[in-house]
Amino acid sequence: MAVPLMQAVRVGRYVVKQHLTGRKRYPLVLMLEPLFRCNLACAGCGKIDYPAQILNQRMSLQECLDADTEAGAPVIAVAGGEPLLHKEMPQIIEGLIARKKYVYLCTNGLLLEKKINDYKPSPFFSWDIHLDGDKAMHDASVCQEGVYDRAIAAIKLAKSKGFRVSINCTLFDGAQPERVAAFFDEAMKLGVDGIMTAPGYAYERAPDQEHFLNRQKTKQLFRDIFRLGKGRKWRFTQSPLFLNFLAGNENYHCTPWGKPLRTVFGWQRPCYLLGEGYAKSYKELMEDTAWDQYGTGAYEKCADCMVHSGYESTAVMDAVRRPWHIAKVAFSGPETEKPMVPEISLANQRPAEYDYDAQVEAQMEKLSASAKPSRGPRVRVNGKAVTSSAEAVGAAE
Ligand code: SF4
Repeated sequence: MAVPLMQAVRVGRYVVKQHLTGRKRYPLVLMLEPLFRCNLACAGCGKIDYPAQILNQRMSLQECLDADTEAGAPVIAVAGGEPLLHKEMPQIIEGLIARKKYVYLCTNGLLLEKKINDYKPSPFFSWDIHLDGDKAMHDASVCQEGVYDRAIAAIKLAKSKGFRVSINCTLFDGAQPERVAAFFDEAMKLGVDGIMTAPGYAYERAPDQEHFLNRQKTKQLFRDIFRLGKGRKWRFTQSPLFLNFLAGNENYHCTPWGKPLRTVFGWQRPCYLLGEGYAKSYKELMEDTAWDQYGTGAYEKCADCMVHSGYESTAVMDAVRRPWHIAKVAFSGPETEKPMVPEISLANQRPAEYDYDAQVEAQMEKLSASAKPSRGPRVRVNGKAVTSSAEAVGAAE
């Protein structure tokens, strides 16, 4: 089982409780991005071209814990940027585990050997190593040779020290089902506890715009992979119904509030993939976001999206409503032969809005405002308010 039984029970209990209390929107996984800085520059990444002042920002330990307190999700995925570049990361992880949250620390693995002794194995903690396929696929995806080998070494090291390890595999246009299937076999041989897979989302800022999948291609690719996977015992960390959705068998609509994202900018609207504004608090995010304006069929930027940040929560909620359905899919695997469900119509979607530059400008203004020295008296020496070291010397004399 890719997800430990206790985790499945606790998360299941949480979801049922939300339904029983009639809560319309609730978080399943808190996404935390305590920094955007990375030590790679992947072609499919939409987060690496911020100005240096923004890349130098970090969420503090307290801000990370506060984000957890605000959202209250049972699972937390810490991503970035590269989280292992954050000096307080061991304390952040420890603090979240102490609260009995299931924490996935997403990393490209390059710093894992250097940092691994700062972390302890726990049933509440899992490394989530980025691996977009076999050696050639992954090194092409991260635009650097040798990264695959280091990620594999990181997986082996983490497993040898008793950690739980999953891999995070994003697939792009041109991925070959046979190669992906062979790669999943290899991952299982390495002893990873689970695979998390998804199609790449076409970030408007990603350097490579040519290799993102549309929904039709996504469904065909995953069908072909899952057909090859029959009987091969791959373990996925995702809901069987989400996998069934990827293979074109579920008519799901996006529920982006299921995976809210807190970054150095605040709470991102509406999801992990789109930065269409920021809320100061989780409450404000939930209450003031026009959720109905997002999702496939509602918004042009969502047209090709089938990513877990929008649709996995939908799958989990479906499992609560139709437990017999998830049992059937879990037993027999995603459907690969019957006709796919009809695609959501894009006829009434609203056009995309592009305000990345305005967002960056607003954040830069905030940063320079917070960096300005205060004009008022800052210290008192011998009972006298002083604003400079020269005055302080004079006051002290
Ligand atoms: S469909 Fe949902 S998850 Fe995907 S980009 Fe749109 S709002 Fe985000």
